[in-house]
Amino acid sequence: MIDTLDHCNIVFDSLENGTLVVDEECTVWSWNKWLEINTGIVSEEIIGKNLKEYYPELDYKGFQRKIRTTLRLATPTFYDASLSNRFITIPRNKVTTSLLTTMQLQVTISPYIPTLKRVMITINDISDLHELKMTLQHRMVEIAKLNNVLKQDKQIIDANLMIVKTDCGCLITDTTEAFCHFFGYENEKLVGRSLSSIFVANKHETEFLLMKDLLQKKQKWSGEMELHKQNGEQVWMDAVISPYLDETNEIVSYTAIYHDITDKKRIELLSVTDPLTKLYNRQKFDEVCEQMLMRKHWTSVNTFGLIIVDVDYFKKVNDTYGHQIGDAVLITMADTLTKAIRTSDILARWGGEEFVILLPDVDMEKAIHAADKYRQAIEQMNVPKVGTITASFGVAVFSYGDTQETMMHRADRGLYRAKENGRNRVESVLS
Ligand code: GH3
Ligand code: MG
Ligand code: MG
Repeated sequence: MIDTLDHCNIVFDSLENGTLVVDEECTVWSWNKWLEINTGIVSEEIIGKNLKEYYPELDYKGFQRKIRTTLRLATPTFYDASLSNRFITIPRNKVTTSLLTTMQLQVTISPYIPTLKRVMITINDISDLHELKMTLQHRMVEIAKLNNVLKQDKQIIDANLMIVKTDCGCLITDTTEAFCHFFGYENEKLVGRSLSSIFVANKHETEFLLMKDLLQKKQKWSGEMELHKQNGEQVWMDAVISPYLDETNEIVSYTAIYHDITDKKRIELLSVTDPLTKLYNRQKFDEVCEQMLMRKHWTSVNTFGLIIVDVDYFKKVNDTYGHQIGDAVLITMADTLTKAIRTSDILARWGGEEFVILLPDVDMEKAIHAADKYRQAIEQMNVPKVGTITASFGVAVFSYGDTQETMMHRADRGLYRAKENGRNRVESVLS
């Protein structure tokens, strides 16, 4: 028996944990090297003595109960060595930045020599684990706090910002409450629909093409656009649409953020609108014409046209039917021309009974053809009281070196020629 114990002691000494043998009375029978190093108590000193002499703070009643249970069940049991139920105190002499000055212990009581009512107690230092647990708990609290802040932020965003999320095919996947509220839709009714289904169609084709191009290039687009409310009302939005890329740089979704600028747009629109016909005014025409001239991609077969329209014998209309009827003629003309032009064309009132039209992506032949189409449309109008009226057309197309003035001058010469040659005609002047 003694030999076996000695042998066991050699094994215990080689262990990387604390191992001691005690009997039911807590008398120490074995005390390994790890314990000597970590407690500063050598085995010769403590063996044969009672643990109580060294560690009076231990709850011996509870501890002895555990020993008896272990022996009775003949199976290892855990001893709860938490702060509220301490075991022997072992200082932490490891160089550490930890706040823990004493080891956190995991204590197991195993039957050792049941006949002598002795148990083996193994002590594992679980301070690192404990510390990790504490750090984790601390982090969890921080995460919970952050989550709370995020949740609040999300609520604020949801209630106040108009945001639409789509998949990479531009089908709506989610919207904020603010968006639904403003547009009068229910989120469920929007999910699955194409984002473009709420755009006002055919009105901003060039802008949409530019948007598509930028988004496909994985860049964000920002600009102004008109959208439909559920009740059909059209509103102006300042929009930013950004693609969301995954780790392989592929587009997974888009986020569109909208800001209502309808009021601002109304004021802006008023400043560029002719009050009588509601067409663009001269100022807007000059602006668009300038932009058109700055585009670099015009060629002789793909250029842009400028058409001047002047009502024939308009003075007579005024003189015969009065100025108000004259005004009504101008309004009917504006409506007819608006219907006749393409969505990419720009129509404006130049002044008096003269209108101007800019036609991108045409050549002279197409521009003349378009002008003749407008001429026929006007000819076919039936204006109340006045009956039919006609108009004359002057056409010019952009060629290298042109300015607005040179183009207007040619179109004007064309118009003059149309009047000279009998009116209700289209005439063009090449550069
Ligand atoms: P032509 O075939 O040569 O063009 O003959 P015209 O009578 O149309 O001659 P002109 O273009 O010189 O006359 C334009 C007239 O348009 C003069 C002016 O009284 C009238 N006019 C200009 N602005 C308005 C307007 O806002 N309302 C009305 N009712 N008449 C206008
Ligand atoms: Mg005139
Ligand atoms: Mg006239």
